[in-house]
Amino acid sequence: MAEMELWFTEQQTPDLGFTCKITRTIYTAKTQYQDLAILETKQFGRMLVLDGAVQTTIADEFCYHELISHVPLFTHPNPKKVAVIGGGDGGVIREILKHDEVEKAYLIEIDREVIEASKKYLPEISCALDDERAEVIITDGIKFVSENKNMFDVIIVDSTDPVGPAVGLFQDSFYKAVFECLKEDGLFVAQTESPFYDQELIKNVFHAVKSIFPITRLYLGFIPTYPSGLWSFTLGSKKYDPLEVDISKIKRIDTKYYNPELHKALFALPTFVQEIIK
Ligand code: SAM
Repeated sequence: MAEMELWFTEQQTPDLGFTCKITRTIYTAKTQYQDLAILETKQFGRMLVLDGAVQTTIADEFCYHELISHVPLFTHPNPKKVAVIGGGDGGVIREILKHDEVEKAYLIEIDREVIEASKKYLPEISCALDDERAEVIITDGIKFVSENKNMFDVIIVDSTDPVGPAVGLFQDSFYKAVFECLKEDGLFVAQTESPFYDQELIKNVFHAVKSIFPITRLYLGFIPTYPSGLWSFTLGSKKYDPLEVDISKIKRIDTKYYNPELHKALFALPTFVQEIIK
């Protein structure tokens, strides 16, 4: 008898699914905030899934984590205090701590169980969470940002899609609070979904950030397991422009996606994406 095959499908749009073969369900839980699963996939290795949406996988996590971290950290000339909003798998913290000048990196995550499962089942990604320069704070990122002023050089919003507790992380009032929470020359970046499927969201976020920050830029990267593969990041800055960075001064660090030559190239947008943020 043929061996039974198990397949996981993320419904990426009402009319499209992303399906991969799984060899094992490693862990599932219903947390206070979301359904959590760690799956062993054939193609991508272990995969973290929240509410049916792929968050990260062992094979392609470097694409997302490097892109959301190194662009802002190499745009700010001296990032000492950095906060991650969301990011419970720890991948962004791992990348931030590759920067020697960072004194402290805070992880502001609402769901403790995402951190615990990642520590247990995704050690390659969560490995820096116990570093002495890392501090984990379990709270709602919206509350945290609105209660702290003038505190960070860089804020990275590594959120889930805009559903459930992450809805407020895509709203104007949150970006205003992020502005206040940054130091006078601070900057922030947020993951802002697929330019193919989420054009309205990208447009709204870009214009909201532009109405608050003197410098607003959109950049793109390729993340194989995210809807359409093409992913956007929106950066708001009080002073430093990623396009003004002297790339000859960017230090070589251990990365698989990001490099100094890419730093400005990431901001060169296809025409249909330029149209979204016009
Ligand atoms: N890279 C991933 C993606 O784009 O799909 C996101 C990874 S990370 C696991 C997202 C985290 O954001 C989740 O662990 C979720 O619990 C957290 N989160 C959602 N809303 C939040 C909020 N309001 N405050 C803090 N963390 C939040």
